Amino acid sequence: MSNFDLSPEQQSLIELARDFGEKEMRPHVEHFDQTGEYPWPIIKKAHELGLMNTHIAPEYGGLGLSVLDGCLIAEELSSYCSGMYTALEANGLAQAPLIVAGNDEQKKQFLAPMTLEPMMAAYGVTEPHAGSDVQGIKTTAKKVGDDYVINGSKMWITNASVASWYFVLAYTNKELGFKGMTGFIVPASTPGIEVGKKEKNLGQRCSDTRGLVFTDVKIPSKYRLGAEGDGFKIAMKAFDHTRPPVAAGAVGVAKAAMNHAMKYATERKTFGVPIAKHQAVSFMIAEMAMNIEAARLLVWKSAHEIDQGRRNTKFAAMAKAFAADMCNKVCTDAVQVFGGYGYSTEYPVEKLYRDSKIFQIYEGTSQIQRLIISKEIFERNA
Ligand SMILES: Cc1cc2nc3c(=O)[nH]c(=O)nc-3n(C[C@H](O)[C@H](O)[C@H](O)COP(=O)(O)OP(=O)(O)OC[C@H]3O[C@@H](n4cnc5c(N)ncnc54)[C@H](O)[C@@H]3O)c2cc1C
Repeated sequence: MSNFDLSPEQQSLIELARDFGEKEMRPHVEHFDQTGEYPWPIIKKAHELGLMNTHIAPEYGGLGLSVLDGCLIAEELSSYCSGMYTALEANGLAQAPLIVAGNDEQKKQFLAPMTLEPMMAAYGVTEPHAGSDVQGIKTTAKKVGDDYVINGSKMWITNASVASWYFVLAYTNKELGFKGMTGFIVPASTPGIEVGKKEKNLGQRCSDTRGLVFTDVKIPSKYRLGAEGDGFKIAMKAFDHTRPPVAAGAVGVAKAAMNHAMKYATERKTFGVPIAKHQAVSFMIAEMAMNIEAARLLVWKSAHEIDQGRRNTKFAAMAKAFAADMCNKVCTDAVQVFGGYGYSTEYPVEKLYRDSKIFQIYEGTSQIQRLIISKEIFERNA
């Protein structure tokens, strides 16, 4: 990417995702938001069309698309329903540790089948008492013969009840701090796993968020990712791949909110003119346009860096924080443009407003992104 022009293939990807959003997602958005049902029919169709698992390498049956390609798809799908998009993206998050650190046998066993049929996976790091502070997790994995026995609880795990397998971070040696953490792939069918109730969330209601309890869950050591002690590094490196598309998802939600606000501002009249003619309103929308564009550029930059094989941690954190904060502001202002109607569930910006909040929380809060950026700047001179 030496300029901002997308290739014809990338343009086609955007059109494919937009067409899918228009035909397969838009008619069902309200239903899934109201019922909180898991959007299986949408996921199955997305899988058929090749809009899922785009980053799995061709040798495992995937398309091997770039992170930037994934971001282009993410922005489109999320602009239709970020709840449905999160269900898809959580698959990408679970797969990322395998892509980063899995061996050939592990990739064949866990990634390849996902390209053949719609299967979900989940990323299990957060615990009831530890989210931002990953070192505070309590889950342990004890080596017993050629197996590991996992005990502990996870919390807020997206796709928990529909996943075929989980990426699980656990301590194999607590005394070593983050260097004593190890990552595992745990098939969901393993005895000893209890899946919690679905959380009733503010937004993105069709996304499946639950707790998991592991009681003497025995898995063979061949399901360990990398070496003992590599887990923290693997879990964090995964975010370098997934924060750009999550940020793109926030751009998609903001874009949808702005489009609704623009349309309404040209239709709604006060004092004899469309409200878009009031500078206070048109400037609100100009701010939206400016910040959406800026966020998109950061998303593309963060994706481009990792696609070139360069460390993108700083840019990924910048894109995630900026896009998430921007999305919240844009959705708040979109409700404002709608006045009283913006507050009603009858109008679309209310859902976007609810959906926007999670972008500042999952995959690292906006505060934690700033912590990462400052560490990258001060300690790594990035
Ligand atoms: C809908 C949803 C889906 C999720 N999906 C997943 C998933 O699939 N897998 C998974 O593992 N996790 C998932 N999470 C968990 C999510 O990543 C955590 O909620 C998030 O990292 C914050 O952790 P916490 O909730 O424990 O908050 P805490 O870490 O307790 O933070 C509370 C507040 O303190 C701030 N804070 C904490 N430490 C600092 C600091 N050092 N400096 C400044 N501010 C700080 C935070 O920014 C936040 O505002 C999900 C969460 C939700 C709500």
